[in-house]
Amino acid sequence: MKLEAAVDDLMGTLCADLERLARIPSIAFPGFPAEPVLEAHDLLVELLRGAGVPTVERLDLPDTSPVIYGEIPPPTPDAPTVLLYGHYDVQPPGDESLWESPPFEPTPLEGTEAGLRARGIADDKSNIIAHLGMLRAYGGRPPVGIKIVVEGQEEYGSAFDDYPPSDPERFACDAMVIADLGNLRPGTPTLTTALRGACEVVVEVRTLDEPRHSGEFGGAAPDALLVLLKALATLHDVHGDVAVEGLRREDWSGTSYTEDEFRELAGVVDGVPLVGSGSLGERLWTGPAITVIGLDAPGVEHAASAVVPYARAKLNLRFHPHQDAKEAQNRLVEHLRSLTPFGVHLTVTPGDTGPGYEAATGGPAYRAARAALKEAWGKDASFVATGGSIPLVNGLAKAAPGAEVLLFGAQNSMCNLHAPNERVLFSELRNTVVAMAAFVREYADGFAATDVTAQGGTGESRA
Ligand SMILES: [Zn+2]
Repeated sequence: MKLEAAVDDLMGTLCADLERLARIPSIAFPGFPAEPVLEAHDLLVELLRGAGVPTVERLDLPDTSPVIYGEIPPPTPDAPTVLLYGHYDVQPPGDESLWESPPFEPTPLEGTEAGLRARGIADDKSNIIAHLGMLRAYGGRPPVGIKIVVEGQEEYGSAFDDYPPSDPERFACDAMVIADLGNLRPGTPTLTTALRGACEVVVEVRTLDEPRHSGEFGGAAPDALLVLLKALATLHDVHGDVAVEGLRREDWSGTSYTEDEFRELAGVVDGVPLVGSGSLGERLWTGPAITVIGLDAPGVEHAASAVVPYARAKLNLRFHPHQDAKEAQNRLVEHLRSLTPFGVHLTVTPGDTGPGYEAATGGPAYRAARAALKEAWGKDASFVATGGSIPLVNGLAKAAPGAEVLLFGAQNSMCNLHAPNERVLFSELRNTVVAMAAFVREYADGFAATDVTAQGGTGESRA
């Protein structure tokens, strides 16, 4: 109760700081000014120093917004060190006419739930404020050593994604809290334990030198678009499940969305069924998904009556957290190369790959986090996975291979991340601060009683 009261006292200042931070359009994408990004950086450095972080450094990498690195030494030699992660850059606001209030003017939410609407207010500025709240709750002297890493170019990507393994000492820790996500839904405390991997593949078909009159040539001259569509149609079976051999698919044993909840989140049009079979967790997190994300073919508006000579599609494959990225990509490439619709061969080009991730959940940091989330929300934590990747997680896990990796935070799936009208709820932010503060306390207590060398950061599976 003492901790909760302390956090309640801090909430006014924390919300004011969040508002200040969210007013800064810190968009680290090409074509956007760099000054606001630096302004957000400077404000955060000031806030961290004010919260009692004695050492705050600036890490400059090529073509990368400055990374903030801060350290609070462990209070005793045997106390564990926790690395806190967040990012201060935000997505561009997109079409501003779709926003109910200007994206960089934090605006109170209408309705019963108190909160704020602004770009980046949830992703990820809410979580930086949660870290700050934890530090303030302990007057800058938490019961664990702290390393805090706040990057400024997460949304666009940067050289920092691959940097941590080259500087392992800096990132060495016993546990890390990657706070760039949050709860399955408001009020449901959630630990995200797995991330699907992702890769891209481009498939092309050339059948004619150029378009030919469909009346004179159609019927014998092969239509490149039809060839491509026949190939794409083999990627799924009649139920909508992925039909490519060798892509891992397993039961998901954690929590997931209800079907109604998912339909609403995805904005599925009335009367349209969901695709695939099995639980939603399996379809979304521990099974593969293939999406056609781009298609080059003549547009309907300017369509000529001609046989299409060339067509191209870009596919995005999401795969099981444990499957090797190259292996998964090869399965899709081989599947496509084996096809000859109407006897025509396809040109298949593998693109980028990003590995998946799955956390080991049996260690002392997980035990502490479960207790902390229960303390904050009053119910047991749910385990979920996510389809979206956080590239830095793998880099950090490589740099600190023995560390437990925890993913939780103040966002939730109703926050409109990367979409118009992004928002955060004060109740979720408050509970996240309580959870972070309770986590370091529980972890410090439990750590003393545990054999440190018995902790494993990777390898153990729960899904
Ligand atoms: Zn984010």
